[in-house]
Amino acid sequence: MRRRLRTKVRRRLRPVNYFMSFDPYKTLGVDNKASPEDLKKAYRTLARKYHPDVRPGDKEAEEKFKEISQAYDILSDKEKRAAYDSQGQDFFTGGASRGGNGGYQFDPGSFNFADILGDLFGGGGGGFDFGGMGGGMGGGRTFGQPRARRGVDVEQQVSVSFRDAVLGREMSIKVNAPATCPHCGGRGTLPGDGGRPKKCPACRGNGAVTTLQTIKTRVPAGFESGKKLKLKGKGGPGENGGRAGDLFLVVNVEPDPVFTRDAGLNLHEEMRLGLYDALLGATAEVETIGGKISLKIPAGTQNGARFKIKGKGVKTDEKTGDLYVTVKVVLPTKLSPEARELLEELREKAPVAAEGL
Ligand SMILES: [Zn+2]
Repeated sequence: MRRRLRTKVRRRLRPVNYFMSFDPYKTLGVDNKASPEDLKKAYRTLARKYHPDVRPGDKEAEEKFKEISQAYDILSDKEKRAAYDSQGQDFFTGGASRGGNGGYQFDPGSFNFADILGDLFGGGGGGFDFGGMGGGMGGGRTFGQPRARRGVDVEQQVSVSFRDAVLGREMSIKVNAPATCPHCGGRGTLPGDGGRPKKCPACRGNGAVTTLQTIKTRVPAGFESGKKLKLKGKGGPGENGGRAGDLFLVVNVEPDPVFTRDAGLNLHEEMRLGLYDALLGATAEVETIGGKISLKIPAGTQNGARFKIKGKGVKTDEKTGDLYVTVKVVLPTKLSPEARELLEELREKAPVAAEGL
């Protein structure tokens, strides 16, 4: 039935110059001072009279309904209305100067019938297809079942500590995300008068409402700063039964006072070493992500020397990095008189050869 109707409508498309005598104000029976409320009221009154659901099979009514819909489409849009007001019939043709092309085209796909008429016909009408009307991009919408649209993807920033990003962590975040409409249980409709379903006012028929909610997610071990976590279905709500978009959490990893991470899985830290430990060797305590460990420092360790501690870098499910410890030899800035005296004596009695000096 629907397919047959669509074919017929398409065949009876009118040429562009049909608009030459089209007056949207007259069509809606309003004057050119009509307010948006006046227009809506006039349109609803006429739609109630000529809607194909009300007068099935009545071709004249169908034509009339298309005309009032186009008139309302133009006049309910501030820009289109202003353009029509200033251009008159040129609004439809694009004007002679532009070769008669590029004028207004009615696009039923972008005209939100459901918003205006949904509650008028209980959201269940069906059977009338605008697919063949007027050209434009979005044809093919059926009454009562407007085109489903997927919700938009949303990005949100989150910060995690360096150690949480390395070790992985469960976290709770607060986001505005779609949830099943509690009013209609996600159906989008409520029982109306006489058993006909009517559009749920809480979710406007979408079946979902946006609420502030706490969502649990997990930052996997070894997560890199700037990468995104995808939370399916937690983005913008869908329209007309379309599925929700996704939420992408852009993870900002905070700097750590001890560790830095290179482009891979290796961690780096600096270790301060005193004069005697550098000169004579020592066992030093080194901080790792997993706790302190001992590191044997050989005698004669130079400033800037680097030690690799295997397996103490970032661990992911697949790989493990290493920890690099860079030595910073710190010399005393003040000497006690005793220390000074002993060191002077050492310099005399046991001179040390340093490479390059
Ligand atoms: Zn609802």
